[in-house]
Amino acid sequence: MSASNRVIDSLLLDDTFLEEEHRALRDVLRRFVREYVVPRAPRWESELRVPGEAFRELGRLGLLGLSFPAGHGGGGAGTRGAVVLNEELGRSTFGGVASSITTHTDFSALHLSRAGDDEQRRRFLPDVLSGRRICALAVTEPDASSDLTRLAVRARRDGDAYVLDGRKTFITNANIADLFFVVARTGGPGRHGLSLFVVERGTPGLSNGRTFEKTGWRSSDTGELVFDECRVPARNRLGEEGEGFRWMMRGLDHERIGLAAQAVGLGEAALAETAAWLRSRPAYGRTLWDLQAIRHEIARFL
Ligand SMILES: Cc1cc2nc3c(=O)[nH]c(=O)nc-3n(C[C@H](O)[C@H](O)[C@H](O)COP(=O)(O)OP(=O)(O)OC[C@H]3O[C@@H](n4cnc5c(N)ncnc54)[C@H](O)[C@@H]3O)c2cc1C
Repeated sequence: MSASNRVIDSLLLDDTFLEEEHRALRDVLRRFVREYVVPRAPRWESELRVPGEAFRELGRLGLLGLSFPAGHGGGGAGTRGAVVLNEELGRSTFGGVASSITTHTDFSALHLSRAGDDEQRRRFLPDVLSGRRICALAVTEPDASSDLTRLAVRARRDGDAYVLDGRKTFITNANIADLFFVVARTGGPGRHGLSLFVVERGTPGLSNGRTFEKTGWRSSDTGELVFDECRVPARNRLGEEGEGFRWMMRGLDHERIGLAAQAVGLGEAALAETAAWLRSRPAYGRTLWDLQAIRHEIARFL
């Protein structure tokens, strides 16, 4: 192993946090990223989406349910499993692919395990874990984002359903998702007035708004959702009325650790590519890697 690769591998989170099962998982994911993601991702970037077949391939390999409890059909690898998934997807250097996939695996559908009941899990999880149905999390609104207590999309109870009205924006997987995990206001102002719903594509009154053409993360489909008298069965509410904010906060705890791991993976890949270039680029009868000033720059990254 070269000196540069030794340095880079020593940055991996392995020894501190991970056990044997996580290292085995890392090997599977690294191969998947190298052989499946990297050759295809440039096309996905130009198509502004990760195709459904990629989710189904992940499902076939058992990689969509790593964070889900084994009792729910998942891998039981918990947040550390999510860290490995995020880090390896980050190493692909295609942040959009990582974002689209982890929105499905960790940021949205996991609410079925946290807040859902057995009937809801039976109804939705087999399709989610196999990749037959793709998931999205719909929280952000044009006038409410960091401050979730301002969310205004309304969910009015009407018999055995809730009627949703309003608009969500910046939703990852907006165009490709089949199941939307939506936070909407069932009660008064503030955080206690929010509830969480699963809204299925095809529900009358649910449509896509604008799609955003971003400068980065292009393969991560991002767009608006419009709810216009959208009638959602009451049995699609996850948890109790008024618990939406609580479930979002629980989700963010998990999501932020995953996103940090994604950034670590991307940083590792950037460092590896830089080191490879420095070692191959001739300069002054040596390579750039041999120049002390360059090494100082690299040392600053570590
Ligand atoms: C590519 C992309 C994908 C996304 N995917 C999703 C998705 O799938 N689902 C979804 O619901 N949302 C999604 N979002 C929305 C994202 O969660 C919001 O962009 C985020 O919540 C921040 O909201 P904002 O951009 O409106 O910034 P604002 O809330 O307007 O904040 C502006 C700035 O102020 C800072 N700020 C805000 N509050 C504080 C504070 N209390 N203290 C200090 N600084 C503060 C923020 O950090 C930010 O820098 C996505 C956004 C992007 C860009």
